[in-house]
Amino acid sequence: MPIESVQPKRNVEEIKAGYTAAVAIIRSIISKLGTEQFSTEELAIFQTFFLTSNPSKDLIGRMKVVFQDTYDGITGNNIIVLQGKVAPNTKRLAKNNTIEFSLQTSATNRMAAHYFIHEATHLYGDTADHSYRGYVNADRTGFQDTGLKAEEAKNNADSYAAFAIAWSDLAGLSSGLNIAK
Ligand SMILES: [Zn+2]
Repeated sequence: MPIESVQPKRNVEEIKAGYTAAVAIIRSIISKLGTEQFSTEELAIFQTFFLTSNPSKDLIGRMKVVFQDTYDGITGNNIIVLQGKVAPNTKRLAKNNTIEFSLQTSATNRMAAHYFIHEATHLYGDTADHSYRGYVNADRTGFQDTGLKAEEAKNNADSYAAFAIAWSDLAGLSSGLNIAK
């Protein structure tokens, strides 16, 4: 089930593209996590966003749960996207299947996909934020501030979002999904 509505009605095409990309990317990640076999390039993005190039069974297990619950949430419900500045209340939003974020009018499909995945992992995967230690930088090469611990990364919303976008690039999905840079 796709996006039911976007309020207010701006960035609608980007948000719909972001949703479509999120579904395809997360499906691809879940399928690969099940194999527990990763290429050198894939291990490098584990290192960047989950702070380990040797993902433990514990990390893989948590990632499977977060991505699967997020996938089930976004495909099994009619999602409302609210672009506003109301302080997020994750429980309230999840109950109403409402994903809330602020996108600038200049936002790209790629940014919409990143924001959408970030917020969707909060709602359906019970992830957290860790201040600037946990927010990735604009080009997704690392975090805005230092000090995030691997144990925190395991449940850090932006680690999931940035990993997903990097994964789509590695898997050659981004162009087809129209979220290439
Ligand atoms: Zn967040």
